[in-house]
Amino acid sequence: MDENCLFCKILHGEVPSNKVYEDENVFAFLDINPQAETHLLFIHRNHTPNIVNMTDTHPQDLQDLFVAISTYSKEKGLYKKGFRVVSNIGESSGQTVFHTHIHILSDVRLGKFGS
Ligand code: 5GP
Ligand code: ZN
Repeated sequence: MDENCLFCKILHGEVPSNKVYEDENVFAFLDINPQAETHLLFIHRNHTPNIVNMTDTHPQDLQDLFVAISTYSKEKGLYKKGFRVVSNIGESSGQTVFHTHIHILSDVRLGKFGS
């Protein structure tokens, strides 16, 4: 846990979020400022600052994230319709929260809180 990290605080329930998925490694929630009908953020429970750093230091976490995204997308019909996967790396790319996260953007309309 990084004490100054917003997404670590969300993981630990110190900042509220609308959870859509969790397993032992991964947590996912609705983006507070959605850029698509469905806009989710998938994060690993381990704190790393971006996906390149994650690949270098915690490569297993990358697999955990994409297994979770794959599982969730098949369960909820996102995979059938198609969806976008985005991860900003660095401030100049638009990254504002420095806990690795994968944006999932889709036209599929999920139920309340992504269920
Ligand atoms: P980035 O710009 O770092 O790629 O993405 C950060 C994302 O986190 C943004 O899409 C932003 O809307 C979202 N975000 C920022 N603060 C919060 C928050 O407190 N709760 C939730 N659910 N999303 C947040
Ligand atoms: Zn963090």
